[in-house]
Amino acid sequence: MIDLTLNNGVTLPAIGLGVFQSPPEETAAAVETALSVGYRHIDTAAAYGNERQVGEGLRRSGVARDDVFLETKVWVTDYGHDETLHAFDKAVGKLGVDTLDLLILHQPAPQRFDTTISAYRALETLLADGRVRAIGVSNFMPHHLDRLLQETDVVPAVNQVELHPYFLQRDVQEADDAHGILTQAWSPIGGITFYPGPWGDERRSVMQDPALAEIARAHAKSPAQIMLRWGIQQGRSVIPKSTNPDRIAENFDVFDFELSGEDLARIDALDTGVRGGPDPDEPRDAFFALQIPES
Ligand code: NDP
Repeated sequence: MIDLTLNNGVTLPAIGLGVFQSPPEETAAAVETALSVGYRHIDTAAAYGNERQVGEGLRRSGVARDDVFLETKVWVTDYGHDETLHAFDKAVGKLGVDTLDLLILHQPAPQRFDTTISAYRALETLLADGRVRAIGVSNFMPHHLDRLLQETDVVPAVNQVELHPYFLQRDVQEADDAHGILTQAWSPIGGITFYPGPWGDERRSVMQDPALAEIARAHAKSPAQIMLRWGIQQGRSVIPKSTNPDRIAENFDVFDFELSGEDLARIDALDTGVRGGPDPDEPRDAFFALQIPES
C-alpha cells in the first residue's frame, strides 16, 4: 500500500474504493470486501444514495473507524454556507461517524458560482472545527480553481476529476500541481468510456485498448491493474469502483510490479483530449436539482 500526503499533512491511501452506481443493496458488501482485502479508503457522495450502506459495510468489516479514510461529497442543491454545514450533518448521520477524513464539493455550480464559494466557506468552518480532516473540490477546471483561490482562504487538498488514459486533463493536473492540490482520478480504469449510461454508444472503451493490452501481457497483469499502477506511479490518488469481489481484489493487487518510463509514456500518449463525462461548465438544471434526503 502506498500513502499520499495532502497539503495539510494528512495522509491517505493512494487506492480507494469508489461506489458511484453501486446499488445500495450491494454497497455494504463491496465495502466489507474491500476492507477485508486491504483497502483503507472509500470514496462516496451524497448524490450516490449509498452513504448509509458505506457506513454499514465499515461497521460490518470490524476495521476500526480511525483506520479508514472516509471521503464524501456535497451535492450542488446543498450549496450555501448553512446548507453545506447541514449537508455535513446529513452525511455523518448516514455514514454513522462523527468526523470525515475528506469532504469535497461535487461540482462547481458555474451558473451561480457564489453558492459554490459559500459552500466552500462552510467546508473551511468544518475544517477549523475539526469535523473534517481535509477539504477539497471535484470537477474543477483551472478557471474554477483560480476564482476559488481568490475568494477563499484554504487551498483545497484534493481536486477529484475524470482522469484515465484517454483523458489526461494536463491543464488541470498542472494547475493542481502548481497549488499543491492532489489530483484524484475518477473513472481511473476508464469506466466512463464503457459503462452504460446517457453517454452514448460511440465511445471507445479504454479497457479494450491494444497498447494497454500489450503492456498488461508483458507484466502479466490486467489492463485495469496497468491503469491503476500508471496513476499511482504518477502520484495520483485512484478510486476504482467495483461491486464484484474478484475485481475489487484485482484492483488492489498493484503493488508487486512497476511500469517502466517507456510504459508510462506509452500510456500518456493515448490521451484523446476528449472527456467521457459531462463538461463541468455545461448547464444541467435537471441533474443539479437532485435533492439529498435527511439522514
Ligand atoms: P471506474 O473507472 O472505476 O470503472 C468502474 C467500472 O469498471 C464498473 O463498470 C466496474 O464494474 C468495472 N470494473 C471494475 N474493476 C474492473 C476490472 N478489474 N476489470 C474490468 N472491469 C472492471 O469508473 P467510475 O466512474 O465508477 O469511477 C470510480 C469512482 O470515482 C466512482 O465510483 C466514484 O466514487 C468516483 N466518481 C466521481 C465522479 C465525480 O464527479 N466526482 C464521477 C464519476 C466517478 P463492476 O462493478 O461490475 O466490477
